[in-house]
Amino acid sequence: MDAGDTKIDLAELDAVRVYALPMRTKFRGLCVRQGILLSGPTGWGEFCAFEDYSDTESVPWLAAALEACAGDWPEPVRDKIPVNCTVPAVTPDKAYEIAATSGCSTAKVKVAEPEQDPGEDIERVSAVRDALGSCGAVRVDANAAWDVDDAAARIKELDRAAHGLEYVEQPCASVDELAAVRRRVDVRIAADESIRRAEDPLRVAVAEAADVAVLKAAPLGGVHRALQVAEACGLPCVVSSAVESSVGLSAQLALAGALPELPFACGLGTVSLLDGDVVADSLVPSGGNLLVPRQAPEPAPARVAAATPSARTQRRWLDRLRRVHALL
Ligand SMILES: [Mg+2]
Repeated sequence: MDAGDTKIDLAELDAVRVYALPMRTKFRGLCVRQGILLSGPTGWGEFCAFEDYSDTESVPWLAAALEACAGDWPEPVRDKIPVNCTVPAVTPDKAYEIAATSGCSTAKVKVAEPEQDPGEDIERVSAVRDALGSCGAVRVDANAAWDVDDAAARIKELDRAAHGLEYVEQPCASVDELAAVRRRVDVRIAADESIRRAEDPLRVAVAEAADVAVLKAAPLGGVHRALQVAEACGLPCVVSSAVESSVGLSAQLALAGALPELPFACGLGTVSLLDGDVVADSLVPSGGNLLVPRQAPEPAPARVAAATPSARTQRRWLDRLRRVHALL
């Protein structure tokens, strides 16, 4: 068993609560975020692998939840985490407003939406640069939408519009394509979708496909495991959420707090994407920063009750929990 692996029988858990929270904006095609809150001897954890993930793919997510509720997190080396604001594929005026009022000095701008043209991306990025001023950092996320030629052309245009991009996240789908784009542009490439399993960051690094690795604690099997992965791949890391409630988000913050180096703002200001939360004091950024918690915030019973889905949905998640736990 690896350092950080936490084994506990489901019967030993103090509480198991299924939640469902509506999304303010669709994410991965989802309108509702669902998961399970688990209470164990050391606190609360959250199991919320996306529902299109197989039981096998969901195992690391459960390991991360059990680490939070029955294990421990590593000692943090910093107490607050700078986060980026997220600018969806909106008009330039709206993009300016989002960046200007966010309190963040880093913005991640969504580009390459299928129903938009490259000119709209340029205007949006330019508006965000105006809003942040020359000291701010502008990154873009293409979510694997481009081919290599498109990526090379678009990145050069967007880099000019931004007066320098911090990095471009996942311009193309495959690791080979990322490597090809990286040889053709002067902007840093960040791998996000290419990193979903513990072995992926190493593959990206070996292929010289990226300058930055976007890590999420849950799919990598928890905070301890994700730290090992970060060390093994040797790339600068950004921690990004899987749009969890504040309980699951606290594990991502623990990871960001424990990484030896954290050169970029993290994608952890995401609780506001949910319409509601399961805790009383949501982990929302203040002045562009989130504090590193020592353990997950405790769910508020009234909030959990308000977020409890139908008996059928609860059964589906509890069955899933049992199946995935059997694979640990
Ligand atoms: Mg991304």
